[in-house]
Amino acid sequence: MSSQNFETRILHADEGHKNDAGALRVPIYQSSTFVFDSVEQGASRFTGEEDGYIYTRLGNPTQSSLEKLMANLEGGEDALAVSSGMAAISSAIMSLLSCGDHMIVSNPLYGCTHSFCVDILPEWGIEVTFVDMTDPDNIYKAIKSNTKVIYTETPANPTLYLIDLERVAKIAKEKNLTTITDNTFMSPYLQRPLELGIDVVVHSATKYLCGHGDTVAGMIVGPKKIIDNINGTTIKNFGGIIGPFDAFLILRGVKTLTLRMDKICENAKKIAEFLDNHPAIEKVYYPGLESHPQHELAKRQMRNFGGIVTFELADGYEAGKKLLNNVEVCTLATSLGDVDTLIQHPASMTHYVVPKEEREKNGITDGLVRLSVGIENVNDIIEDLKQGLN
Ligand SMILES: *Cc1c(COP(=O)(O)O)cnc(C)c1O
Repeated sequence: MSSQNFETRILHADEGHKNDAGALRVPIYQSSTFVFDSVEQGASRFTGEEDGYIYTRLGNPTQSSLEKLMANLEGGEDALAVSSGMAAISSAIMSLLSCGDHMIVSNPLYGCTHSFCVDILPEWGIEVTFVDMTDPDNIYKAIKSNTKVIYTETPANPTLYLIDLERVAKIAKEKNLTTITDNTFMSPYLQRPLELGIDVVVHSATKYLCGHGDTVAGMIVGPKKIIDNINGTTIKNFGGIIGPFDAFLILRGVKTLTLRMDKICENAKKIAEFLDNHPAIEKVYYPGLESHPQHELAKRQMRNFGGIVTFELADGYEAGKKLLNNVEVCTLATSLGDVDTLIQHPASMTHYVVPKEEREKNGITDGLVRLSVGIENVNDIIEDLKQGLN
């Protein structure tokens, strides 16, 4: 199976047809619990001597198919599908760290991940240090005797700064630390952190994996030992599991990931180039532009440059407001990774929870607009932006 190409594995690695009825697609096992043949069988399921399902909070066959697929696509030993991206991120972090431990995180982060690090973790006695990882050597200065985890997001949301994951993994191995990367912006089709030496990948499956904006879900992929531990501690006891129907929606959406991503990347590059040449735009952030300071790293680390384009309007927030209120093809909504183009304003929306001073230090100015490019005819998106900017 693993000798097949990505585009082929994405269609078959869920082993969808391996069910009792021989249905082509993975059935939605909409059941809270599973029947035991005997008390002895029930007991051996609980001890783990016998494989099999017990209760849907502990695992469900629809969920298992999605996990099999994602482990295969990311090149990990095992995977866990959960209720949201934040459930994936918080459960992975909470199971790897205890009171008294320290974690190093990249900066900027997704808004709620930032909030989790500053509002929740310190209350549980877990210390967090934010580091600019565009130069990974900055990590060395932040390592303490109680550091356990390095957490990264690349490309960063929303400024699209990149982090050299191979370098981060090397530093972590040298210092015996566990690494986690949020791979939401890229999907395993465009970037595979585990192959670069990262230990654990987390996803908001709500975005490109789902692709259609019709559910919220999350994924964790990594070594079996770490995945078993997350499943047996934070997921089992906090209960952030994925429902069978949501697992089915991700299985369905992900089948077209490669086609969607190819079109999205093609459109995004054209839009970034259009914006780069527009007089009302001060600055465009897109790793696919040669002017991006880390374009060389992007070419090395990513298969293509993704669908998120951020830009700064020369006339700041007021100009941004006019644009966002005047577009028609681009839809004003947070979230990203859908088939249709979404436009949003990070300072007042996704990064509203990050204090202004902190935002501005990381390039999230009031004039910044984030576009999640879809698969529309690119000329219609460009015409829409053109009329909005005029
Ligand atoms: C959306 C997002 C999350 C959070 O995922 P949810 O599914 O909304 O919980 C985390 N990281 C990144 C990069 C995201 O875009």
